Amino acid sequence: MPKFICQTCGTQFAESEGPPQHCPICEDERQYIGWNGQQWTTLQALSQNHHNIIKKIEPNLTGIGTHPDFAIAQRALLVQSPAGNILWDCISLIDEPTQAAIQALGGVQSIAISHPHYYSCMVEWAHAFDATIYLHAADRQWVMRPDPCIHFWEGDTYPLANRLTLIRCGGHFDGGTVLHWTDGAEGRGALLSGDILTVVSDRRYVSFMYSYPNLIPLPAEKVHKIAAAVEPYAFDRIYGAWWQRVVSQDGKQSVRRSAQRYIAALKGGR
Ligand SMILES: [Zn+2]
Ligand SMILES: [Zn+2]
Repeated sequence: MPKFICQTCGTQFAESEGPPQHCPICEDERQYIGWNGQQWTTLQALSQNHHNIIKKIEPNLTGIGTHPDFAIAQRALLVQSPAGNILWDCISLIDEPTQAAIQALGGVQSIAISHPHYYSCMVEWAHAFDATIYLHAADRQWVMRPDPCIHFWEGDTYPLANRLTLIRCGGHFDGGTVLHWTDGAEGRGALLSGDILTVVSDRRYVSFMYSYPNLIPLPAEKVHKIAAAVEPYAFDRIYGAWWQRVVSQDGKQSVRRSAQRYIAALKGGR
């Protein structure tokens, strides 16, 4: 039986005879139903006219994104670590060339995902590399293809490996998570933020939203909580969810001033 993939959010569902009736992720007010109505594809159909671009970004960090763009069009990041490689966030397309290229980089031991918009085809990826998926338990309800390879973690932080820590920030989703990579940015530290802290067009800043496509902001208290969650960690660079969305330096200050600016705007202070 096929496992259908929602064309708008890229999420793969558990196998079913026909396409599912609904995509709960797109029907949620943080997303939207595609303008041509709810449409479905499969991994096989997707691989007919899409391929992945795999690009080294900095030492021990490789980006993987689909071309042409598919669904939300985020790119995943592979962190190479002596304790085993980590795939940060995920994408829908996985094919033979991608698998071979990633095996050549040492494969994937763990997959960690910031929030449900990037759950995509995580189980396909996990099975391809015999990896474990780490998701925050607060977002458990958004898993559309349950599988024993998914491990739900609880609490505020989770040490994924030596010098690699998952931090629960909440905000965009209750379980909204970022990955702190101590050795990133030539040892100055990097934050892999998905869109929990999203890098904006002025790449000296990030922003924080309940819904990005529908422009629904977060309350001051939640923005403060996100900034406070990452405050104990040293980082100079922030990798957002898309290729060019990177705060290349001064990341820590960037989060502080972005949260201050946002909260001031909510309070009518600008
Ligand atoms: Zn969807
Ligand atoms: Zn999102």
